[in-house]
Parts: sequence; C-alpha cells; structure tokens
Amino acid sequence: MNPSALSPDQLELQARARELAAGPVTKRAAEVDRTEQYPWDTVELLKDAKLIGMTIPTQYGGQGKGWLDAVLAIEALSSACAVTGRIAVETNMGAISAVMAYGSEEQKRMAADMVLAGDKPAICITEPEAGSDANGMTTRADKKGNRYVLNGRKHWITGGGVSRLHLIFAKVYDEKGTFEGIGGFLAIRDETKGLKITKREPTMGLRGIPEAVIDLEDMDVPPSALVIPPRGLKKGFADLMTAYNSQRVGAATVALGIAEGAYQLALDWSEKRHQFGRPINEFQGLQWKLADMSIKLSASRALVYNAARSGEGGFPDMLMAAQAKVFTSESAIQIVNEALQFFGARGYSRELPLERMARDVRMFTIGGGTAEVLRNVVAGALLKKKLPQTRDGWDKA
Ligand SMILES: Cc1cc2nc3c(=O)[nH]c(=O)nc-3n(C[C@H](O)[C@H](O)[C@H](O)COP(=O)(O)OP(=O)(O)OC[C@H]3O[C@@H](n4cnc5c(N)ncnc54)[C@H](O)[C@@H]3O)c2cc1C
Repeated sequence: MNPSALSPDQLELQARARELAAGPVTKRAAEVDRTEQYPWDTVELLKDAKLIGMTIPTQYGGQGKGWLDAVLAIEALSSACAVTGRIAVETNMGAISAVMAYGSEEQKRMAADMVLAGDKPAICITEPEAGSDANGMTTRADKKGNRYVLNGRKHWITGGGVSRLHLIFAKVYDEKGTFEGIGGFLAIRDETKGLKITKREPTMGLRGIPEAVIDLEDMDVPPSALVIPPRGLKKGFADLMTAYNSQRVGAATVALGIAEGAYQLALDWSEKRHQFGRPINEFQGLQWKLADMSIKLSASRALVYNAARSGEGGFPDMLMAAQAKVFTSESAIQIVNEALQFFGARGYSRELPLERMARDVRMFTIGGGTAEVLRNVVAGALLKKKLPQTRDGWDKA
C-alpha cells in the first residue's frame, strides 16, 4: 500500500511498532523459540508502547482504534517475532472484540481491564472430535437452577496455561434438557472452578505461546458469564463467529509479517553473498524469485489491508477476511521457503531465523479455519449459498 494512504497517526503507530520490532523484539525472538517460554517481558513492552488493547473503546480504557491500526502494528512486530505478533492479535482482535461487541457492561469492563493489564484472552472452540466441523462440538452447558454447568474437552487452545480470560463455546441446554443453541461463556483460569489445563501440545513452531488441552469438569458459572449476542442463543454462534473475522485478518497479518521479515533477509543477503565472482542477485534465477516474492507480498498486503478496512464500525467482511487469510497464509509459506533457499546451508541452521520462520509460518493455513474450509466460505459467498462446511456457525434454520 502507498504509505501516503495511511494517516499521520497510523504512520506514527507503524513507526513505533517497527522500532520495537527492530530492537527488543528481534533480540528476544530466538530465545523465546528455544526456551518455549511465554514472553511476559515483551508483553510489558507492548503495553508501554500502547500496542495491546488499542481496539478497545476509549470508555473502557482503550484507544478506540480500528482494525487497520492493529494490522499495522501486528505486521511490523511479526516480521521480527511471530509469537509477539500473535500476542498483539489476541489482545486486539478475536475473543476481546467479541466481548466488546456483544458483552454486558460488566463483561466489557472485566475483559477490557484484564487485557489492558496484559492478559491475552483464549478462545475455546476446537475439540478433539470437532475441528473444522465446529457445530459438532459436544461440550455442553446445562442449566441447573441459577447456574450453568459445563463439561467437555477443548484442545489446541492458544494461550492455555498463560491466558486468564477464556471465551468457551458450548452447546447450551435448558433445565429440561432442550438444546437452545451454541453460546460463549466467560471463565477465568485459577478462579473458575472446574477449568483445568491438562496438556501442552508439542508444537512445530510458534513455541513461545502454549497450545493446550482444556478440560471442563463440572465448570460452574452464573448466567452472567454467558455472552449473549443480539439475535439470542439460537443464532448466537453465527453472531459470535462474525467477531472471529477480525482474528482471521489478524492471523493473515502475522503470516504477512513473517514473510516480509524473511523476504528482507533474503534481499539483503542476495547482495552480500558472492558466488562465481558476483553477488548472487545477479543471477536471473534468483532475481525472478525476488520478483515473485515481492508480487505475492504486495497482493497479500492489499488483501489484508482491504479486509481490515471493510470492518470499520463493525467486523471485517467474512468474504474479504477469508480471501485474505487463504492467499496470504499460502503465499507466506512459499515466500519463507524461498527466502530460506537464498541462504543455502546457512538457511538450514538454527543460528539464523529462517528455519524458525519456516516452522512458525506453517501454522497459518491451519489455525483459525483451514485454507480448505475458508475456500468453502469464499465459495459460499460467491454462490450466495449457505454451505454447511464453513465452521462459521451454520444453522439449518
Ligand atoms: C497453532 C494452532 C493454534 C490454534 N488455536 C486455537 C484456539 O486458540 N482456539 C481454538 O478453538 N482452536 C484453535 N486451533 C484449532 C484450529 O482452529 C483447528 O485445528 C482447525 O479449525 C482445523 O481443525 P482440525 O485440526 O480438527 O482439522 P480437521 O477439521 O480434522 O481437518 C483435517 C483436514 O481436512 C480438511 N477438511 C475438513 N473439512 C473439510 C471440508 N468440508 N472440505 C475440504 N477439506 C476439509 C481440513 O482442511 C484439514 O486439511 C489452533 C490450531 C493450531 C494449529
């Protein structure tokens, strides 16, 4: 995007995020990957730089910024460290934005305070037997007197074990056992009884944020824990999943940032590295690779920025968010792979960041809706048909 299309405030925000990325975030990235420890020190830096909770409305202590503002920060941070980029996604988009759009006054205040204090909320949808087919979830919330009691297992929950605030999806049943719809419940780790983190997944990349199994064993919450969207419980899941379009744009942005970081490293190295008596970028085989990488980056950036812009005053458009995530995640994997190739044997070494980037970027065609399922979303929008295989709260009604 032409930088002049960004406002002075956005350029300042982008510069602030780039400065942080180039300094402390770059310095910590390899260690965060190696130790697999959540970077609490980086969270403090993000807080100081006002890069978390910035989409929270000002009346709740945030800055009321738009999706594109968040995208600019996430893009810059992810070029240095994808884990940091993901923290910026989940403290500005996804669960927090669902609560800020649909929560009660009390829920909004609690969630905003927690995020602004540095908590990265967890969103709990996926189950061992219900991944892409999220409607097939079996976690249930049974109304018992003036309480809901939740039982079930969630897995691959980002932040499980470090996040405090959880937005947990479950099938809701009334006291007679009648199914009412899928709802989202707020719970707090170490406070809500029955919420248990039972396993950490040994992941390929993005190792600084735990992915966890969460067991709900008679998790007991009051009705005020239920986030009720405007159309009520029956359409609740579909409504709550519109908030997830912001997270999809965020995920696409992390992939874009990683690819930009890798491309820049390859570009610089192609001038420094000499073989056959000249810089390797004098070989047309590599020039065309650089050209293809930059074309994919420009196209990805345009899709991501446009999807972010489509959400002004609401949530990003579902079609644009899906298109951006599919194209950007697939392109980013190709770009990082090519960038690694520029370094020959060095690219395969853990002393350079390319191998980490290649592991990190691989996630983005999977998490938050796979590339295949998001193609169903795109096809459904093009055909104007409600396809059941979309993971977006399809309801038969
Ligand atoms: C790092 C990471 C973080 C994650 N974080 C979270 C989180 O915080 N919260 C959360 O709830 N979940 C999270 N997930 C889970 C993620 O959303 C699911 O992995 C994803 O939705 C796919 O589900 P699945 O893994 O069960 O694959 P499956 O649904 O079993 O799919 C297997 C394969 O079949 C394909 N497939 C399935 N259905 C169709 C179809 N109709 N048409 C064509 N192909 C199809 C899929 O694309 C995939 O290739 C995370 C996953 C990862 C890897």
